[in-house]
Order: sequence, then structure tokens, then C-alpha cells
Amino acid sequence: MSTTTWHDRAASLSIDGRAFIDGKRVDALSGKRFDCLSPIDGRKLAEVARCEAADVDAAVAAARAAFEDRRWAGAAPAERKRILIRFADLIMQHQDELALLETLDMGKPIRYSRAVDVPATQNCIRWYAEAVDKIYDQVAPTPDNSLALITREPVGVVAAIVPWNYPMIMAAWKIGPALAAGNSLVLKPSEKSPLTALRLAELALEAGIPAGVFNVLPGYGAEAGQALGLHMDVDCIAFTGSTRVGKQILQMAGQSNLKRAWTELGGKSANIVCADCPDLDAAVKAAIGSIYFNQGESCNAPSRLFVEAPIKDAFLEKAMKMMPRFAPGDPLDEKTVMGAIVDATQLNTVMGYIESGKQSGATLLHGGAQARLDTGGFYVEPTLFDNVDSSMKIAQEEIFGPVLSVLTFTDLDEAVRQANATQYGLQAAVWTADMSKAIRTARALRAGTVHVNQYDNDDITVPFGGYKQSGNGRDKSLHAFDKYTELKTTWIQV
Ligand code: NAD
Repeated sequence: MSTTTWHDRAASLSIDGRAFIDGKRVDALSGKRFDCLSPIDGRKLAEVARCEAADVDAAVAAARAAFEDRRWAGAAPAERKRILIRFADLIMQHQDELALLETLDMGKPIRYSRAVDVPATQNCIRWYAEAVDKIYDQVAPTPDNSLALITREPVGVVAAIVPWNYPMIMAAWKIGPALAAGNSLVLKPSEKSPLTALRLAELALEAGIPAGVFNVLPGYGAEAGQALGLHMDVDCIAFTGSTRVGKQILQMAGQSNLKRAWTELGGKSANIVCADCPDLDAAVKAAIGSIYFNQGESCNAPSRLFVEAPIKDAFLEKAMKMMPRFAPGDPLDEKTVMGAIVDATQLNTVMGYIESGKQSGATLLHGGAQARLDTGGFYVEPTLFDNVDSSMKIAQEEIFGPVLSVLTFTDLDEAVRQANATQYGLQAAVWTADMSKAIRTARALRAGTVHVNQYDNDDITVPFGGYKQSGNGRDKSLHAFDKYTELKTTWIQV
């Protein structure tokens, strides 16, 4: 579609920013709203319901009522499957609309919203739908005079709090397994990108998910988010976001009803390229492509690149040739591969880290400045620092923007030690032609996912989550059901 057509469609969109509770669009009980601005050009997209504790009470009560009368939990797994597959179909039928909303709301290029975010969202819902009538419970090997059943039951009311970087996909990673398992859900999207979650709830209702089962509450973290965290009638909270807020979520669970609390948090992933890397072109493409994808706003972005000294110059020469491709462009132009940063706050955070890199003596090889200032939006050039030291702030803290830190190493054990020396442990990678070395390194890296000789592979079939302060939960794969189900043992006297 031409850029003009996307812009025309954007201009004619009518956006409903009201909350979605008990199958209906509703204003916040206080009547309060907040402005939802597009990072593309700073324009106001919609006024969105500013939900607070009273709205949380209403949504949780609706979810509880739906759970207690078993309108969804009591449906046969094959029936839940049928409806969730219909939900996935509807998502694909609304591919352009959802992609456009995502791009306008969050700033990512339309080519990716359309080709990655929407398909991944529907695929996640479909995958859990298809799984749900194929999972069997267990009979324990107990003595003859008894029968012990080990069964899984939905936990009840699940609250999901998600970030803004992949609004639909992060939501789908919770919606899919939570609903497939028979729970009721209250989803709080980020205040920075609430629009697609609200639309997903409408499509879910249209697909046949009963009213009350899937509720969406837009609002601020300190208001709607905190009220969910502290709520006495929420059985489980599934949180994706920063490590700072993740810690608060665990505290809130402890302060309230000990709800099951799952956290998927930040990252500072290390990508280690050894001199015997089997394919330097592939390594450069993966390193550069992965850090600048989604404007660097990816929890698993390989933001620390460790390159072995003998190949560093060759690596950087190839990397520099790729940089112009990532110059920020109009997100509604299908040729654009890097879009806008989500908002002014995040832009300032990223620019602050770039300044810190310069001040601490790293060498700025590319970028470092804002771009497209005339648009009124928030854009940053793809930025590459060489000669970074592990002790620098840009090597320790999550920037969540298009900034790559290059560190040089001569000893692999020392590189692994430094790779592990942050609070995070989300992902890591090693590139080497020596398989024993690869396996030893993969074992030594303290991360939930380790890539060998690639960085991009990802699939709904494998768990996604972190070690250390990258969180305690796992999204995706059948393992995600562990978060949304209770294990019950039933003893029967024979
Ligand atoms: P954030 O922690 O600021 O916000 C995440 C969500 O929590 C938002 O919906 C926000 O409104 C809510 N929130 C904020 N304060 C709250 C509070 N006091 N109580 C309850 N809820 C509150 O994070 P963000 O800036 O939206 O997202 C970026 C972070 O998310 C990064 O650290 C990134 O690495 C992480 N992330 C992790 C994964 C993963 O799977 N591990 C995936 C995507 C993003």
C-alpha cells in the first residue's frame, strides 16, 4: 500500500479509547481521560479512559463472576479451542487496521506491524487454542487401594500488565495461555500504547469469548496497574515490563493476597563473536539487524557486542556499511525499517544514555543525534559506540533504544565473565565454528535463551524469559500454562 494511502487511512480512523469491561465499552467511572499521542508526529490520536482503582474493582468483579459461573472455564476444551481460533481468524481479518493502530500508537514501521506483530499475535492465540484439547492430566503411580489424579485447573482471575514495545504481541503471550486454560483476564496495556489491546477485546467478544472473560483497562501504572497488583481478588498477576516495576509487583503480591506473580523483565543481552566465527557477514547482519529492529526497543536486543580483537576491524567495517539502512523514516512508508521512539520521555532517556556514552570516553562511530525533528515526532539515529568498557553505564543499564555498545575481547572466559556481569540474564549469543567451545560458552552464559551462530530465531514453541533480574516467568510454549494453572491432587479410596 502506498504511503499516501496509509496516511489517508490514518486520518480517517475513528478510535474508541474507552475501557472494555464485562463485554462493553465504558468510560472510566471518574470520567477521567488521558491523551494518547502518536510518536510519529506528536498528534493526538484519541482520548483514552484513565482507569483507576474503582474501575479495577469493576473489571475484577466482572472477571470473577465470569469465572465463578464457569461460562468459559466450564466450556469443553474443544469449544474454547474453536472460539479462540475464530478470535485468531478475526485478528488476521483486521490485519491492516490493527497494524495501523499499532504503528500510530507506538511508532514502529508499518511493514513490521503488518508482517510481524499482527501475524505473531494471531499465531500465539491460535497455537494455545490448538494446544488446549491435546494436553492430558496425570494419574499417579499410587498403591492399589487408591487412585490419585493430578489435574490442572485455571487459577481464576488473571491480571496481565504489559509494556508498550510490542503491545499486541506482549498481550497475546498472556491472553493465549491464560484464556486457553480457562481463566478470566483483566489486561492493562501500557498508557503509551493502549489502542490495539482495546480492539483485541472487541474482536474476542465477536469471536464468542463470553462477556466478562476478557476485560481491558487502560490507565497509568501507578493507578490501574497498582490497583491490580494490590487487589485481593486477583489470583495471578502476569507482568511484563521493567525490572524496577517488576520488583514492586512482587512486593504488591506479598502485601496483598500472595497472588501468583510472574515477571518478564528487562535485558542487556550480550552477543559474543569469536575470531573463528563461521560466517562474519551473517554475524554482522544479525548483530546490527537485531539491535536496531523495533528502534532498539526490544527486551532481548543484543545491546552489548563482544568482538574478539583479530576480527574487530573487519566486523565494524561491515557494520558501518549497514547503518544507513536504519536511518529513521516515516513509519507509514513501507520502505522504512526504523520508526519513531515511543514518546518524549523515552527519547530523553535514550539521548541521556548517548550523552553518558560520550562523556565516559566511548568512541561514537555512528549516529548519536535526534532525527526528523521537523515532523514533531521522536526519532533517534541508529547509534554505535566502540571502545566501550564493561564498567560504563551504557554497558550495564538497559537503554531500550537504538544504541549498540561494542566491547573488544582477547580471552573468551573473560568475555563470558563480563557478559554475565550485569543484573540481567535474558538472552545471549556466541558465534564460533568450534562446537565444543559453543556448547561450553552456552552453558556458562547465565541467560534464559542462548543463541549459537544466529540471533534471530524465535518461535511460539520455545519458552521466553530470563535469569536473574530479567524475571522469574516464562512466556510462550506449553511451559506458559504453568503460570495460569494450579496443580490439584485428588485422592480416591478404592
Ligand atoms: P514499565 O515497567 O514502565 O511498565 C510496564 C507496565 O507496567 C505498563 O503497563 C505500566 O503502566 C505498568 N506499571 C508501571 N508502574 C506500575 C506500578 N507501580 N504498578 C503496576 N503497574 C505499573 O516498562 P515499559 O517501559 O512499559 O517497558 C519496557 C520494559 O519492558 C523494558 O525493561 C523491557 O526490557 C521490558 N520488557 C520485557 C520483556 C520480556 O519478555 N522479558 C518483553 C518486553 C519488554
